Amino acid sequence: MQHINNAYINGNWHPLAGLDQFSLINPATQDCIAKVTMATAEDVNLAVEAANKALLDWSNTPNKKRAEYLNAIADEMQNRYQDLVQAHVQSMGCPVGLTGAFHIDCAIEAMRYYAEMAPMIDKVEQRENNLITKQPIGVCALINPWNYPLHQLVGKLAPALATGCTVVVKPAEQTPLADHIMAQIIDKVGLPAGVFNLVFGRGHEIGPVMAEHPKVNMISFTGSTRAGIEVAKNAAASVKRVCQELGGKSAYIITEDADLEAAVRYGVEDVMGNTGQTCNALTRMLVPKSRYQEIVKIAAQVAKEQVVGDPNHPDTTMGPLASERQFNIVQDYIKLGVEEGAELLIGSSDRPAHLDKGYYIAPTIFTKVTRHMRIAQEEIFGPVLCIIEYDDIEQAIEIANDSQYGLSSAVYAKDQASALPIAARLDAGQCYIQGSYFSMYAPFGGVKQSGNGREWGEEAMHEYIETKAIICP
Ligand code: NAD
Repeated sequence: MQHINNAYINGNWHPLAGLDQFSLINPATQDCIAKVTMATAEDVNLAVEAANKALLDWSNTPNKKRAEYLNAIADEMQNRYQDLVQAHVQSMGCPVGLTGAFHIDCAIEAMRYYAEMAPMIDKVEQRENNLITKQPIGVCALINPWNYPLHQLVGKLAPALATGCTVVVKPAEQTPLADHIMAQIIDKVGLPAGVFNLVFGRGHEIGPVMAEHPKVNMISFTGSTRAGIEVAKNAAASVKRVCQELGGKSAYIITEDADLEAAVRYGVEDVMGNTGQTCNALTRMLVPKSRYQEIVKIAAQVAKEQVVGDPNHPDTTMGPLASERQFNIVQDYIKLGVEEGAELLIGSSDRPAHLDKGYYIAPTIFTKVTRHMRIAQEEIFGPVLCIIEYDDIEQAIEIANDSQYGLSSAVYAKDQASALPIAARLDAGQCYIQGSYFSMYAPFGGVKQSGNGREWGEEAMHEYIETKAIICP
């Protein structure tokens, strides 16, 4: 069993004196695979002081040099590729054959992408007589959830470092392993002391310390809407910038004249990927009444093709849910859906019969879901798809927008030209049309209760930049 008793602070492995240990459970075997000592407020304060001390030199480091560090980190991530894969397989139960594509490849590419973008901070715009300049926002606290540990970390870390910010990182309690490897990588490439600091800890204990800290200039939070609101409240007194990337219940409209085989396959596979633990998963499939029977048949077929089981087996496409807590939540929602009167097309709240342990749930699809049911409104965060029928496209758009969330959305129509006007009317930060996939070049973030931040793309850089105007005579 692994023991993680150190944080990474000021370029050193800093021993943690606290007695509180978090047991890391492999969700496939339910065995304890590591004990992680949780940081205290004192440890966080040290990390913030280190980041603050390093800020001046790092922000004055030429952008070319900062880009070299980012590229060196990317090279070393490539060298540690298998370790990063195993971190996800062990702590989250990700299928080994899919982990690279889902969690690692884009993160490495993103390090290089933001290295290329490092010069942005030095660009000066002349507007009339005035000079519009940019500067790094300062010390950033980066808090992440457990569902895409490395991807979420890099989505914040790479643009923060590229702009000249220094950081204090806190991963989710359940998934510290990828971050731990990243600290080793950063140590190896020799990033100046204090630029990157990592603490492991409980969100409700050290999260408020990070959010309230007067020397933290910005906090970037990804996680539940509940915790995101708390972070914003805690950050308010120090007037720091808060970037919130929160939950979702994204709608996917399939039109009457779409290629149903392709459209439904895309939607079902989207929800089952990462065992449904994806913030922008298209969990509400809105389908025309006129084609309901055909759609339901395809959906059941695609769900049956999923191979649920041991994440270490190369053929597995769906591993367990990442934790017992998540397993219980998803089971409860499936029971709730039945109580609310939705029909189970496929799946159940029980662990699949061929598995005797692990937090497994089979691909589950509800039909006869109506828009006001709780399973149609609340984020389930598991492999559970709700199929909702609509009469005409106006009603489909209305149902799609009838949500407290607005993270993502999707449209599959006859062709791109038909999909675009529908996409334009959906209240969400993103809309995927005609079966498209995540692109790190496009800004990602929500509206409404899904948050206010924009990660990825060039927009991610702006989260870490302050604009300064020099007014000339
Ligand atoms: P969570 O909110 O429970 O935890 C997320 C992180 O916040 C963890 O590191 C946790 O320790 C920390 N935290 C908890 N309470 C805190 C507090 N009071 N102050 C500061 N930090 C605190 O969420 P989760 O269950 O780990 O993650 C799942 C959620 O994340 C889902 O709602 C999902 O949609 C969302 N998510 C959003 C995005 C996005 O980009 N919008 C991406 C991935 C996940």
